[in-house]
Amino acid sequence: MNPALKIEGPTRKYNSPSLSLLVDVMNTPMGNNPLLDFSGLPRFAEFKPEFVTPAIDQLLSDARAAVEQAVAVGTPAEWAAFVAPLDDANEKLGRAWGQVSHLHSVMDSPALREVYNVNLQKITVYYAELGQNEALFTKFKALKAGAGFAALSDARRKIVDNELRDFRLGGAELPADKKARFMQVQEALAQLSAKFEENLLDATNDFALYVDDAARLAGVPDDVLSMMKTAAEADGKTGWKITLHMPSYLPVMQYAGDRALREQVYRAYVTRASEFPTATSPEGKWDNTPLIASILKLRREAAELLGFASYAQVSLAAKMADTPSDVLKFLDELAVRARPYAEKDYAELKAFARDELGLTDLQAWDTTYVSEKLSVARYSFSDQEVKQYFPEPRVLAGLFRLIETLYGLHVREDQAPVWHPDVKFYTLTDHAGQRVGQFYLDLYARASKRGGAWMDDVITRRRTADGIQTPVAYLNCNFSGPVGGKPALFTHDEVITLFHETGHGLHHLLTRIEELGVSGINGVEWDAVELPSQFMENFCWEWDVLKHMTAHVDTGAPLPRELFDRMLAAKNFQSGLQTLRQIEFASFDMHLHDDFDPSGPRTALDLIDDIRKQVAVVIPPAYNRFPNNFSHIFAGGYAAGYYSYKWAEVLSADAYALFEDEAEGYGGVLNPEVGHRFWSEILAQGGARPALESFKAFRGREPTLDALLRHNGMA
Ligand code: ZN
Repeated sequence: MNPALKIEGPTRKYNSPSLSLLVDVMNTPMGNNPLLDFSGLPRFAEFKPEFVTPAIDQLLSDARAAVEQAVAVGTPAEWAAFVAPLDDANEKLGRAWGQVSHLHSVMDSPALREVYNVNLQKITVYYAELGQNEALFTKFKALKAGAGFAALSDARRKIVDNELRDFRLGGAELPADKKARFMQVQEALAQLSAKFEENLLDATNDFALYVDDAARLAGVPDDVLSMMKTAAEADGKTGWKITLHMPSYLPVMQYAGDRALREQVYRAYVTRASEFPTATSPEGKWDNTPLIASILKLRREAAELLGFASYAQVSLAAKMADTPSDVLKFLDELAVRARPYAEKDYAELKAFARDELGLTDLQAWDTTYVSEKLSVARYSFSDQEVKQYFPEPRVLAGLFRLIETLYGLHVREDQAPVWHPDVKFYTLTDHAGQRVGQFYLDLYARASKRGGAWMDDVITRRRTADGIQTPVAYLNCNFSGPVGGKPALFTHDEVITLFHETGHGLHHLLTRIEELGVSGINGVEWDAVELPSQFMENFCWEWDVLKHMTAHVDTGAPLPRELFDRMLAAKNFQSGLQTLRQIEFASFDMHLHDDFDPSGPRTALDLIDDIRKQVAVVIPPAYNRFPNNFSHIFAGGYAAGYYSYKWAEVLSADAYALFEDEAEGYGGVLNPEVGHRFWSEILAQGGARPALESFKAFRGREPTLDALLRHNGMA
């Protein structure tokens, strides 16, 4: 499970609108364009793709005017005359584009995709220009050097420092010719990343396997079968439809006894967006291989233009970790600790496959299946059994109760325009009934929605002329929806994913910072950003939390304590293998962006093969094209940053350990005193101070590896 946080960078390139779009512009009175309404929540019910181009053109033109005005302010510029108006203009652009980009992620359609890409280019150009604007850079330098700097709040001083760093990283100090090239590189990278993600989605959607023989699906749970049947009927077919979307793919790998079926589906999954032919594309038209090569070359070029030896160094300039070698050292240390556990995990798996299932040659398409069987044999429960106790309404009630206990906040369902009937909306209020923040919850998988789970911001907390603007977040998952008139049932892993994304959401919503640039998740170092999310996962293993969020879907009985004890015993099942897998990906990503030569004879695939030889215990088949679907680093913001999950897990485990330490005196981990301290020292602070300082303020010392190893059963 690799939940992705979507704090996507702003994007770009100039293109004149097509004729059809121009016609739409003329037919669309600007005053009615919902994307230009910033008075409240987004007006999703009225959204049409034809609103995008006129709104973005208008906002870009306003933002450029604001930049010109800011540049014209006399030096030394004051915050109010110079930074605030820029913030206002950029915030509007960000909010409007945020809606478009969100819909592109959750309600993809050909019309939206077209306007998204056209406007993405323009927005990327704008931000690249902004990042290279020498006059603005000079203004910020003067602000920093001026007498007024010391009198600014901590948050504002941090913003100025971040701006100066980002101007340097954005190429503001480059001579004109290099600057132009740097900008071209940024534009090309934005387009390639968008294409990478689209290829992956198209390739995923291209696969459909209709199975008519029920015997082939023996072992697959009933609720999954009924979903597959409905999906086949929707296509006018008989039998069951298997897709490569997680709610379909995973149960096949986990439960289908038919080995050939598992192999077929596995192969399709791991060769998505590669050179291998698919059903409707004999020559692999969604092949991401050339995109990977181009992205790596361009990133290297961008780094060199900025005077860095590698893109990894650029990436780390704004992170908690200092150098690529620090990160690799951290990963190696963890690998050394995890390796004996991983080897033991794998040996047990092979022995079980051989002795109990007669599989003498354990293959990649067997490991999930055999793991499930081994887990059932050892702990005598299955994901399927546990799932019956986690109906959606109960899970949400338990989650909201936790938020109420820890932070004294109330969560209630509320009304707002949404983009799909399945989406729900909630308001968070404090003890005095004051609104703290709001969030959308879009839980179920759809063909038009990209995979994974992520949080994104809609509105960020800040002080405006009208007072405090309260924050709003999107929480997105890809769970199975309700089937057969019953509420949706979540696996325990899915519950953990929901808590994870809610953790990101609370980081965004519970900020007390009033400056846009460092409010909520803004300005938080990327390798610390998973702290609040992974922190929340811990509560999914607490009896005091689980007993309030379970009710069997048929009988209403809560999760039996003895079943919970078995789940707990199984918690670290294969944690050695899982840790090594994360280290394999993180190490691949770091080497790829540091010492790998993208213009040399070796490919990314060669590199991951080498890394696997050094790190992995399980080697997948030669046709596995994992890099081609590694969208975290090629389409998301995790380039030279995938290690952040493990890095932040050290922080989150160690932070959670304070709740454990204090539990005895209090009578449990749900201690509101520690909860409020976590809120004020970590969640509230946003990016207004370095993450290490926030951590130390909460914990009273530097982070250590101990809690992580203990939580993973590797102490
Ligand atoms: Zn996350």
